Amino acid sequence: MSSLRALRADITTLAVDAIVNAANSSLLGGGGVDGAIHRAAGPKLLEACRALAGCKTGQAKITPGFRLPASYVIHTVGPVWQGGHQGEAALLERCYLSCLHIAREKRLRSLAFPSLSTGAYGYPIHQAAQIAVACVRQCLSVKDGPLDITFCCFSAADLAIYEALLGTAPQAV
Ligand code: ADP
Repeated sequence: MSSLRALRADITTLAVDAIVNAANSSLLGGGGVDGAIHRAAGPKLLEACRALAGCKTGQAKITPGFRLPASYVIHTVGPVWQGGHQGEAALLERCYLSCLHIAREKRLRSLAFPSLSTGAYGYPIHQAAQIAVACVRQCLSVKDGPLDITFCCFSAADLAIYEALLGTAPQAV
């Protein structure tokens, strides 16, 4: 059985088969979650990324996790938010699908996503989270091997949004 959960954590600490990196198209590192992943994985990650020769928006590429507890990093490049009329939603959806496709191809069992595009790239979190959850749900509904998905949130506010979408928000007492 596949599963879906939201968690508040630093994604670099998760011992899953692969963590997803919100990279930029150079794949040569940056700020936010990208910087944190490169720092935690060590310099070999940058070397491996150099060999990939970049990545287009919506696509994804995989490397080993090196010093990370995760075995692999799947690097994807989300869209920069430009107001919502430049195909951002379709591109963000494609990021999730590209990562899931690689995870299936590699027969991974567990995968953790940060909230792609919602930091420096400015995608509104509610809309981005809706796309993330819908896209992953749809993918898991297709008959295939089991896959455990974690939506790794950096803030309590982001976690609340994902929990509401997943229907796992704590009940008021
Ligand atoms: P983007 O450029 O795609 O917007 P960012 O790294 O700026 O990427 O932000 C994407 C999301 O990752 C944001 O929600 C941000 O809060 C979150 N984030 C930043 N650092 C970490 C981390 N160490 N673990 C998990 N999420 C993180």
